[in-house]
Amino acid sequence: MNKNVFSDLAEKFDTILKDDARIETYREDTMFRGDPDAVIRARDETDVRAAMKYCFVSKIPMTFCGSRTSMTGASIPTEGVVISTERLEGIIDIGEHQGRKTITTRTGTITAAVQKAAEEAGFYFPVAPTSRDDCRIGANVATNATGEDSFKYGPIRAYTRRLKIWLADGTEKILERAASEKPSWDRNRAGYVLDWKNPIDLFVGSEGTLGFIAEVTLDLLDRVPHYFSALAPFPTNRKALEFIVATAQSTDLKPRALELVDASALDVMRTHTTFPRLPEAAKAMVYFKQEYQDEADRDQWLGRWFSVLEKASTPDLVTAVLIADTQKDRENFRLWRHHIPSTVNERARKFWDAGGGKVGSDWWVPIPKLLEMMDFFYTHADALGLPYMAYAHVGSGHPHTNIICANASELKKADELLLTCCRKAVALGGGVAGEHGVGKIHRNLLSIQHPLSAVAKMRRWKEEYDPLFLLGRGNIFD
Ligand SMILES: Cc1cc2nc3c(=O)[nH]c(=O)nc-3n(C[C@H](O)[C@H](O)[C@H](O)COP(=O)(O)OP(=O)(O)OC[C@H]3O[C@@H](n4cnc5c(N)ncnc54)[C@H](O)[C@@H]3O)c2cc1C
Repeated sequence: MNKNVFSDLAEKFDTILKDDARIETYREDTMFRGDPDAVIRARDETDVRAAMKYCFVSKIPMTFCGSRTSMTGASIPTEGVVISTERLEGIIDIGEHQGRKTITTRTGTITAAVQKAAEEAGFYFPVAPTSRDDCRIGANVATNATGEDSFKYGPIRAYTRRLKIWLADGTEKILERAASEKPSWDRNRAGYVLDWKNPIDLFVGSEGTLGFIAEVTLDLLDRVPHYFSALAPFPTNRKALEFIVATAQSTDLKPRALELVDASALDVMRTHTTFPRLPEAAKAMVYFKQEYQDEADRDQWLGRWFSVLEKASTPDLVTAVLIADTQKDRENFRLWRHHIPSTVNERARKFWDAGGGKVGSDWWVPIPKLLEMMDFFYTHADALGLPYMAYAHVGSGHPHTNIICANASELKKADELLLTCCRKAVALGGGVAGEHGVGKIHRNLLSIQHPLSAVAKMRRWKEEYDPLFLLGRGNIFD
């Protein structure tokens, strides 16, 4: 690409060019290393739109990035310009409109700040990725993010009421749902939603490939719920999984989060400096959260949970269940949970130079198929002989399995296992991506999930909105 275009960009915008050491930060996310030609650190929305118009005319590929916590290389380009939203922070409006409580925010606002602003106004925004202290709300919409509490609250699509979008050439589009429209709780994050009726659903989860999300309006819930968090130890992975399957299908228990921490993930959790000592017999954990109305209601819920735990675990482990009912204690639980992916990502990063790293899964299955799927994964992972673990949103049939590979040949084998597991998950009625999208590193999974005709349909939508394939090049499509 002509070098002059980039120097020209640098004159117009706050730009980091390729020979500037600061570009290093924008070269990789947790899973992928790319090679941007330049980074535009937009000072405001006018900058973004002007930069997009410039790049469109000069046919420069554009990749939008928030905080680059993506797990798929989606915010890291292999060519062209990065447009960063890191300075586009701030809440625009919170209030009631047409009978709905909503928050309108600029795209680069950190997710935790959106939640805090909602709570300060007496409302509640429940979609909380465990990365919420780092990631940005526009990117959450672009990935259709979920979080720890997705068991009860689902993905951000379900709350996305209005988007201000700029197409590749800078044209503005306002996408909005009617006050009565209820969005779906789709599980699939592989490519675009196939049966969308409102284009807002096409843009949610489009991984920066259709347009720039400039402004987001989200539905809020009426009030901040009371809840307690619990970490319940189990003697085996199997016992923890059986408990999760039974609870997910129970009509009595109504958790807002229901997650697995398997034996190896628990070993990582135990390395957190504030994690308490657990009995040696604890070989797995179930992490759940329960909402309640008042103290009496809380005590009833605690009684109900303990009575099922007594049947499902062992007496010594039931007495070791950890409960958090204050903001500070719940936050500790969240940090211990977050310690698992952040530690694993750090460990895996050390093997990048040797061609290794982490192979992480995002497949999901319907709950009645979960035990079969997990047996399948554990049997194959044991045979592989590499360090691995499974944790996270298992109550929704959606674990994250991580295999750590020291070199390229181990990585190849783990990648093959990922493909095998994805085929199995689809055969069981599930999918290849339940949370992170496919980005660059998992776009090969699209054809496991969808027939060629469906992928061709997605490509036609992409061509309609971005005919030159300038946006998020390499994400979803080759
Ligand atoms: C430790 C850890 C825990 C995580 N936990 C969760 C979790 O619980 N749930 C979950 O869903 N994800 C989770 N993630 C993944 C990640 O945090 C989410 O995908 C998040 O939405 C990415 O936000 P970001 O600001 O880092 O975006 P980036 O990684 O910078 O970008 C992500 C995608 O959004 C696009 N994008 C960014 N801004 C815009 C915009 N303004 N317009 C259009 N496209 C845009 C990018 O092009 C890219 O395709 C986790 C990641 C880590 C590292």
